[in-house]
Amino acid sequence: MLYIGCHMSVSNGFYAMGVQSREIGANTFAFFTRNPRGSSAKEINPSDVRKFLDISGNFGKLVAHAPYTMNPCSADEKTRIFARNAMADDLKRMEYTPDNYYNFHPGSHVKQGAEIGIKLIAQQLNEVLTPQQSTIVLLETMAGKGSEVGRNFEEIRAIIDRVELKEKIGVCLDTCHIWDGGYDIVNNPDGVMEEFDRIIGLDRLKAVHLNDSLNPCGSHKDRHAKIGEGHIGADALVKFINRPEIKGLPVILETPNDMDGYAREIKFLRENYSD
Ligand code: FE
Ligand code: FE
Ligand code: ZN
Repeated sequence: MLYIGCHMSVSNGFYAMGVQSREIGANTFAFFTRNPRGSSAKEINPSDVRKFLDISGNFGKLVAHAPYTMNPCSADEKTRIFARNAMADDLKRMEYTPDNYYNFHPGSHVKQGAEIGIKLIAQQLNEVLTPQQSTIVLLETMAGKGSEVGRNFEEIRAIIDRVELKEKIGVCLDTCHIWDGGYDIVNNPDGVMEEFDRIIGLDRLKAVHLNDSLNPCGSHKDRHAKIGEGHIGADALVKFINRPEIKGLPVILETPNDMDGYAREIKFLRENYSD
C-alpha cells in the first residue's frame, strides 16, 4: 500500500485536511503544527479530530512538521527556550491524534560547530520527550545548507546516540535533501540505502519527503522541484518509493505545486507503484 500525501493547511482543521487529502487521492498528509515562520499554534478542536478519525481509518501515519523557526541548537538561549517550549507544546497537542509522527529540522549551529549543535539538539530532546507520548519524533535529513545539522547520516546518528528515550525517535528521509547532501540516489541508490542502514539503521526510518531537486547532487542548496522536473528525475524517484526499505512508509510530497499539481503527482506515482 502506498501511503502518499502532501502538506495541508491546518487552519481549517483535521476533518478538512482529511477530506481534501481524499479528494486528491492522498491517504496521509503533513501539516505545520503552528505557523511555519511564526510562533502561534491553533487550538485543537476535539470534535473536529473525532470527525477526522471517523473518515481516516485507511490513512497511513500523519507526518506533522515543526515550524522552520524552531532552532534547538541556536547560540541564543532565548531561541533555544522557544524551540523547547514549542516542541513540548506541539507534542502535547499531537496526542489529540495519537500514534503519528512529528518531524523537525534538527537546527542550524550557526558558528558553534556541528558537535555543539548535536549536543544541544539531543539535550532538547531529552528535556521534552516523555515515556507516555505516543508520537514518534523524527529528525529530518538535511541538505547541509549553511550550518544545518543533520547534513549527513553520521550527524543524525550522533544525535540519536545522545537521546535517552530512543524508542521515541526516528528519521524522515528527504530525497531532495540527501541528494543535495551528496547521496547519489540516481546512480547508487543501493549504496545510499546500505549506508543509511549501516550508520543509522533502517529500523529508524519512519517517513519520506519525496521531492525532486533543482540542483545537482552535493550542491547543498535545498531547492525542491516537481517530480520529474529536477536533477533526480521521475525514474529514480519512482524506483525509490518501490524499494523494499521504503514500502509502507508514509511519503509526503513537498514539491512546489497547487492541489491540482499534487493530485497529478499522486496519480502518477500510484500508477508507477507496485504493491
Ligand atoms: Fe522539512
Ligand atoms: Fe523535507
Ligand atoms: Zn527542503
